[in-house]
Amino acid sequence: MQPELLIATSNPGKIKEIKAILSPLNLKITTPKDLALNLRVAETGGTYLENALLKARAYYQAAGLPVLADDSGLEVDALDGAPGLHSARFSPKENANDADRRAYLLEQLSDKAQPWHAHFHCTAVLLSSSDNFTKKVGRCRGLIIPEERGNTGFGYDPVFYIPEYGATMAELGPDIKNKISHRAKALIALNPVISKLLGINELN
Ligand code: IMP
Repeated sequence: MQPELLIATSNPGKIKEIKAILSPLNLKITTPKDLALNLRVAETGGTYLENALLKARAYYQAAGLPVLADDSGLEVDALDGAPGLHSARFSPKENANDADRRAYLLEQLSDKAQPWHAHFHCTAVLLSSSDNFTKKVGRCRGLIIPEERGNTGFGYDPVFYIPEYGATMAELGPDIKNKISHRAKALIALNPVISKLLGINELN
């Protein structure tokens, strides 16, 4: 039987990426939906780590499985690091979606001088028991651009431009994004710890 890891997110964009990034591990990745778990974890922490642990602990308590949780965000220099921890809720509009959040971001930047330097941040934690965890961090640098480009990925990807690739994160496609993104960097750094905890060998 394959060892099982529960991922503490219901965000479809994140689930797809986490599954792809961890695909070299011979591992069964379970989502909250697979277990009919519908937890609403209030992200009340003051740091990415606190929020990742809030999610990881809630799912660990509910399922009793090792849990992988990530907390991530976009930090824009001209906005003093906003939206940061609040990236998922960055729009005054009720029931705002990703497009609303991108539009609000561009509105906030409209009177700021370009280039708009930014980076994505990801803190990933692997929780193996209620108080035993490993944390890894990943960052990816780029620029916010004033128009949307590309249609892969999720969230702020269409306005996050990476000069080295001459493309936005949403134009790169999953094969490249899942090697260079903040989430990829954090999860790739966690791979050996996941393998050791679950007693598995990496396939490649
Ligand atoms: P959380 O980690 O669930 O708190 O959500 C982080 C939010 O940051 C997401 O809902 C997105 O708005 C944004 N975000 C995080 N990672 C990415 C990414 O890879 N691409 C685009 N937006 C992202």
